[in-house]
Amino acid sequence: MSGEEQQWLADAIQSNWIAPIGPMVDGFERDLGLIMNTPSVLAVHSGTSALHLGLRLLDVGPGDEVICSSLTYVASANPIRYLGAEPIFIDSEPSSWNMSPQALERALYDAKRRNRMPKAVVVVNLYGQSADMEPIKELCNHYGVPILEDAAESFGATYKGKASGTWGKFGVYSFNGNKIVTTSGGGALVAENEEALAKARFWASQARDQGAHYEHSELGYNYRLSNVLAAIGRGQLDVLEERIRARRKVFARYEIAFSHIEGISFMPERDYGRATRWLTALTLDPQRFQVHPSEMVAKLEEWNIEARPVWKPLHLQPLYNGCRYFAHEEHVSVSEYLFTHGICLPSGSSLTDTEQNRVIDAVESVLGCVVR
Ligand SMILES: *Cc1c(COP(=O)(O)O)cnc(C)c1O
Repeated sequence: MSGEEQQWLADAIQSNWIAPIGPMVDGFERDLGLIMNTPSVLAVHSGTSALHLGLRLLDVGPGDEVICSSLTYVASANPIRYLGAEPIFIDSEPSSWNMSPQALERALYDAKRRNRMPKAVVVVNLYGQSADMEPIKELCNHYGVPILEDAAESFGATYKGKASGTWGKFGVYSFNGNKIVTTSGGGALVAENEEALAKARFWASQARDQGAHYEHSELGYNYRLSNVLAAIGRGQLDVLEERIRARRKVFARYEIAFSHIEGISFMPERDYGRATRWLTALTLDPQRFQVHPSEMVAKLEEWNIEARPVWKPLHLQPLYNGCRYFAHEEHVSVSEYLFTHGICLPSGSSLTDTEQNRVIDAVESVLGCVVR
């Protein structure tokens, strides 16, 4: 929390609007729309529920196929299964760690050949950086498949000067506790216009039909954001830019500190936009280091430092066993390399220089490099 939230929360409590929906939710949606420069926003209780609603808007149903990035958190793909559809996973490209346009092209070509076009492509923006949306969009337009952008990790990032999350037909943000700004739990679905979201708004509040009595003709969900949590969110939005600067600074300090160590490669930042560096992620060259990233996480734990492995690609998850997967090149699976050799370092916006120096010393020590 930044401190700004307290006043907004006090206002929400004062007004006694302790409900899902309310004036704070309306205000939060308005603020979000302004920041992201997108006219229509639906605030919901998680990024996962926003993905679920977005896929349903795209008419995903039983027996359908949906293309999805493989190197991501499981929440990107689970809503595909909620709707009875099957995911097809796409590898990362080495230059951005995000969806490989050339693997996507092979997947779309294959779908066409099988005469079974996917209902949507879920493009995930990993660790604070947008995927290369232009070539991806071009391919999707060519094949007539809409994009749902999972921008849960790239809130605040830009691509070609435009907000990450506003490049697809629909976009999704998350305000879960681990994200760059948070409502403790929350999410949003965005679209180019309000009509496109109207149905999702209706479904998110139990799909109650117009009229005085409780009439329901469609299946709905209880997905709306609480008015109290929206108040926290309004305070958080005020510090978004500050947070991005703090996270980028954390990244830059790691980059400088490890510049003398050969065999450490950071997740690259492409010049097509600005990443938030939500997490500082890097890979360790197996030719140079004996330490495997999972051992590294365990060793840092002994220093009371919490590091994390890179997401395990979804095509390797038991849950998604047997799903189709398109690698970056026929025999080059980038996401598997990133998972096997990657690690995420402590990257919080409130990490102090002293704390970060301790992480740097610990990493050098674990890697067997000289401690300064
Ligand atoms: C956090 C996250 C989600 C899910 O958001 P929740 O608000 O936790 O439901 C979805 N996709 C990605 C890539 C995420 O990191």
